[in-house]
Amino acid sequence: MAKTALVTGITGQDGAYLAALLLEQGYEVHGLARRSSTSDVNLSRLDWLGVTNDVRIVDGNLLDLSGLIRTMREVRPDEIYNLGAQSFVKSSWQQPILTGQVTGLGVANVLEAVRLEQPDARFYQASSSEMYGLIQEPMQTETTPFYPRSPYAVAKLYGHWLTVNYRESFGLHASSGILFNHESPLRGIEFVTRKVTHSVARIKLGLSTELRLGNIDAKRDWGHSKDYVRAMWMMLQQDVADDYVIATGRTTTVRDMCKIAFQHAGLDMDKHLVIDPDLFRPAEVDVLLGSPKKAKEAFGWEPTISLEEMIVEMVDADLKRLAYLKSA
Ligand code: NDP
Ligand code: GDP
Repeated sequence: MAKTALVTGITGQDGAYLAALLLEQGYEVHGLARRSSTSDVNLSRLDWLGVTNDVRIVDGNLLDLSGLIRTMREVRPDEIYNLGAQSFVKSSWQQPILTGQVTGLGVANVLEAVRLEQPDARFYQASSSEMYGLIQEPMQTETTPFYPRSPYAVAKLYGHWLTVNYRESFGLHASSGILFNHESPLRGIEFVTRKVTHSVARIKLGLSTELRLGNIDAKRDWGHSKDYVRAMWMMLQQDVADDYVIATGRTTTVRDMCKIAFQHAGLDMDKHLVIDPDLFRPAEVDVLLGSPKKAKEAFGWEPTISLEEMIVEMVDADLKRLAYLKSA
């Protein structure tokens, strides 16, 4: 019989790639999405992957425990992937309380709904390398101590430990994936990789002349969302729930990531890049570098898409989207 999955955050980057993967595996996929007054649910990412009509959207919000309990009772999922969050670090200083409620307490709501209604289901929590913040070891693993540096990271740390705690307290099959930054053509435009590829495409098409960035010395371990959602799924196929770092093991500066995008578009980065002090953060995570050794040894996960391949794919996708908008 086909398995049933419930994905929170299905309208986001990872939600879309995960939905496509689960459908490929024969799952019945239900996605929790919140409605707004201006539009129906934004399905543009699911549209991009051509899977919108194969997914069942359930009206809901991570802040609404009674709705989550009802959804759990209706859907009876075998697997729950909790990807919903206020996920943008910079906004978390502007909206620390909302971030705490959605990104932190939202996890408690989903875990409570699972514990009350579907305790035999498998649960995945989208934890983040931002939890390492001011890094305590040069290469971060599952045992590296955390030192969060933003309200977002503090909220994620709560969600991470609550997942561990529900596994230990109630025996839930609850796993936490500590995922390092991962990107794709479906990444939100406010994140640095997509901001770069979108701006480079605009400059190339003569729609703008500059790219304004903050701290370009920051280093990140960037992978592709498509590879990373596969790791989420693999984690839940293990007999025993556990926590895993998902990363590439390579770190690159924002400056060098930018160079790849400009070079691919045949543009001179020095003519267009402007450093804007307003884009620096109150506290920075200077460098992240993760070891995916445990995931590789436990279930053979490895990244397949390099940073160069991903940035090229993102620039090309932005060029295509903008050219379409220009001609429409
Ligand atoms: P996105 O920002 O693209 O997606 C976030 C999703 O959460 C959207 O579907 C959004 O819905 C939904 N959401 C926000 N608030 C609520 C709410 N109150 N109730 C229900 N849904 C809500 O994030 P990604 O896809 O990139 O990331 C997925 C998860 O993984 C997130 O939890 C993120 O923090 C985490 N993560 C991501 C990393 C990355 O590099 N991408 C790294 C490590 C962890 P809407 O469309 O309505 O806004
Ligand atoms: P994060 O690691 O989840 O915060 O992912 P981001 O893509 O938002 O940021 C990655 C790094 O790029 C951080 O160290 C930022 O300070 C740095 N950065 C530099 N300029 C910018 C910018 O203009 N926008 C964003 N989002 N990040 C920037």
